[in-house]
Amino acid sequence: MKRKLILLIMTIMTTIMVAACGANDETSVDEGVKVVTSFSILADLAENVVGERGVVEYLVPIGEEPHEYETIPSDFQKVSDADVFYVNGFGLEGWLERLVQNVGDVPIVSVTDGITPLPISDQEGEDPHAWLDVTNVILYVNNIRDDLSERDPEGAEQYSANAEKYITELEDLHDWIQSEVETVEQTKRTIVVSENAFQYFGEQYGFETVGIWQLNSHEEGTHSQIANVVETVRERQIPAVFVETTVDKRFMETVSRDAGVEIAGEVYTDAVGLEGSGAETYIKMIEHNVSTFVDGLTK
Ligand SMILES: [Zn+2]
Repeated sequence: MKRKLILLIMTIMTTIMVAACGANDETSVDEGVKVVTSFSILADLAENVVGERGVVEYLVPIGEEPHEYETIPSDFQKVSDADVFYVNGFGLEGWLERLVQNVGDVPIVSVTDGITPLPISDQEGEDPHAWLDVTNVILYVNNIRDDLSERDPEGAEQYSANAEKYITELEDLHDWIQSEVETVEQTKRTIVVSENAFQYFGEQYGFETVGIWQLNSHEEGTHSQIANVVETVRERQIPAVFVETTVDKRFMETVSRDAGVEIAGEVYTDAVGLEGSGAETYIKMIEHNVSTFVDGLTK
């Protein structure tokens, strides 16, 4: 009996190894669908839809913010070699124009179709940070699924199944956020960060949002911007402020010192976390953000 079992296991293992070698040979010729996205968050969403059927890469490295990215020569190659290039739009990728002039006829698809952009607070233009509202991201995923299915009809069933599974996880995440934020008192529901990136999040989950500045590509951290935020924090007796992983932290440190409130943690806005950060995926980064907000604002 035992011997039979060992034999069976060996047979299965050999089969798996042969299958794996076969798959490798194939991928060296054709890796399946090749997707490139502008930044890491979109890449994670696309990976969840593409699954085993291809490869996903992104341009803006983790740790850099996508508003003011400077393209490097290898980016042009990456995009030129892709089947499709996914971008956020709403003015996020200000560097896009220069890139698209040099990448041939690769289709460039905005994955925010169907989302109504919020205006940048008190200014002209659209706020690009739609991904910080989970219900918007479900639309991103639907757009990616539809685009891939059209581009690669043989994979349509697989994209659809992958998207469905992922959307279930996103719906759970949305429900979880709603129940988590209920623990924060109404009067304490203000999120203060460097860049006012949480407007979509705030609108969906019931928070006011304040930034030292409105958008990372604008003027950042002037004396009057800092003075304004310090005044707001004092007036509204906001118990804690937060700082993003992708911005210079010195500005928020000044706010914290001058207003006499602590920086209650780091949050992710424009990139997922590095390997080992615990925020390597979109879902994990949102979980991290929500826990950080709730902890900081319920102290
Ligand atoms: Zn941003």
